[in-house]
Amino acid sequence: MKLLHRLLELLFPRKCVLCQILLPSEQTDLCRDCRSVVPEWNRGGRILPGIESYAAVWYYEDQVRDSLLRFKFSGKRYYARAYGRLLAMAIHRELPEADLITWVPVSGIRRHFRGYDQSRLLAREAGRELMMKPLPLLKKTRHNQAQSGISDPSLRRENVRGKYRAIHPEQLRGKRIILVDDILTTGATACECARILRAAGAKQVYLAVMAAGKDRNTNRK
Ligand SMILES: [Zn+2]
Repeated sequence: MKLLHRLLELLFPRKCVLCQILLPSEQTDLCRDCRSVVPEWNRGGRILPGIESYAAVWYYEDQVRDSLLRFKFSGKRYYARAYGRLLAMAIHRELPEADLITWVPVSGIRRHFRGYDQSRLLAREAGRELMMKPLPLLKKTRHNQAQSGISDPSLRRENVRGKYRAIHPEQLRGKRIILVDDILTTGATACECARILRAAGAKQVYLAVMAAGKDRNTNRK
């Protein structure tokens, strides 16, 4: 097993998910510099209707944004392992105990072209650390324009409204649910998903993201 591990290290050297330098064997996920320099998310005071509270790993800026773009658009799906470990720590630190973990799904067409659903991978990897198996509780029923292409908050709310529905409502009734997504900016998507989950009977919805925008006027999702 040790040999296999060494061989995998040689074939697939581990790199820092933020700055991409090769990691020494004793370091995982992030290099020492990024750990000390990149600001960790520190409690947001945003009110997100329908969401009890939320947790993030980082702020959505600079190398964090570049890293998440590589994860979403440049095929770096294996970042999910490192991201998931970091996300699990943020959930453990910031959110109360929950019963279920789920994710904000992408539409079928987007998953087809990307080849994966990034938030599902995050929920799976974070869930592995937290010993919670993610359950699919939402389905995106209609493809819409990417939120990143819309700047007006009310248009963003409009763009996601009615695009999701709850699946397996019998599994979420009365439950406290952690909803995983990659990025939080205006919160339009997360709030719409929380609305659907609560309408289907969820008791409380918490949100966990890799990165949150610092204020309402930047990097909207
Ligand atoms: Zn680094």
